[in-house]
Amino acid sequence: MDLLNRLNFLSSEMEVEPDVETSAPPVEARAFEAARQPASTPACPQDVPVYKACLPNGQKIRLLKTLLTSACERNCSYCPFRAGRNFRRETLKPEELAKSFMMLHQAGIVEGLFLSSGVAGGGVTTQDRLLAAAEILRQRYQFRGYLHLKVMPGSDQAQVERAMQLADRVSVNLEAPTAETLARLAPQKVLLDELLKPLRWVQEIRYNQPAWRGWNARWPSSTTQFVVGAVGETDGELLKASDYLMRRIGLTRVYYSGFRPVADTPLENAAAIHPWRQNRLYQASFLLRDYGFSLDEIPLADGFLPLDVDPKLSWAMQHLNEQPVELTRADFHELVRVPGIGPHTARQILAARQQGGLSRQEDLRRLGLSIRRAAPFILLNGRSIPSQPRLF
Ligand code: SF4
Repeated sequence: MDLLNRLNFLSSEMEVEPDVETSAPPVEARAFEAARQPASTPACPQDVPVYKACLPNGQKIRLLKTLLTSACERNCSYCPFRAGRNFRRETLKPEELAKSFMMLHQAGIVEGLFLSSGVAGGGVTTQDRLLAAAEILRQRYQFRGYLHLKVMPGSDQAQVERAMQLADRVSVNLEAPTAETLARLAPQKVLLDELLKPLRWVQEIRYNQPAWRGWNARWPSSTTQFVVGAVGETDGELLKASDYLMRRIGLTRVYYSGFRPVADTPLENAAAIHPWRQNRLYQASFLLRDYGFSLDEIPLADGFLPLDVDPKLSWAMQHLNEQPVELTRADFHELVRVPGIGPHTARQILAARQQGGLSRQEDLRRLGLSIRRAAPFILLNGRSIPSQPRLF
């Protein structure tokens, strides 16, 4: 089998990493759906699946997500690559991975790479191979495009630092929010020592070492991923862990991968999660990260986010119905709590106020405010805003 077909085979297995890098999408569900691009249809002669990705700087790129090997010695209960599962495995050497990626890159098919791996020969050995592939790309092929490098469970500190000198983003999959839920999901993984520790190293390195030592003279961002809905973890547990990771360990964002059962795994008979649960978690995590909400302000019922209403609207219905926000006086943090007003629109409102351009309903439309969503929760010069129900 030729190199590109082997790469294609490995890339086609990447549904287990369903999320692509995106910038901070607005919290509203509609905008969220638009921002989260699904995997594209095959986009090259070799049918390698290419993902649309939006980078933190807003740049949109075509991303290849692939593994160095689909062989794995670990036994995570949900994972198609778990040890002992009977399916065809494929492995590329670091130089094969780099060469085949560059063939696609030079053909204009992909611009960036998300590189992960099954664990084969221990975390340190596997990480060495990932680093070798990244070094070949950066040094031999002079690849300067986007590179997201996974850090393997059990990697050492020097490897984490080297990954940060080569990649634009590094990530460690925590999988579950507590040691108890991780034991059910990934019995061989150790939450604090194997998974959280490398993420702490990333933050320490960013703080203690000059940025010029990082790739392109800046340190990479860091992220993680939770598998949601496989072993009974609550949304409250997931959001508490997410809040800690973003506030205390400097993670740019947390990804939530909705559980879907895989045949011939211990969880093959478990139910897939409701698709809206994943969306509600993203919305709540953006409230924590970008909108100034604290954990105890996130509306939960028995530990779970309501599926039928987005968490910002749910909070507003409880807190703003009786005390609408006066747009001519509210500060940024009060404005972004109104449904239909995101950080960008809040800044527009503040700027318009300074220039004296916020007195009529038309001004609000011009600034991009969704009057239909915001009207029940706002006042303009002491008056409520009539909102027309949409006919279409
Ligand atoms: S370590 Fe676990 S999640 Fe990662 S590839 Fe192996 S079995 Fe899958």
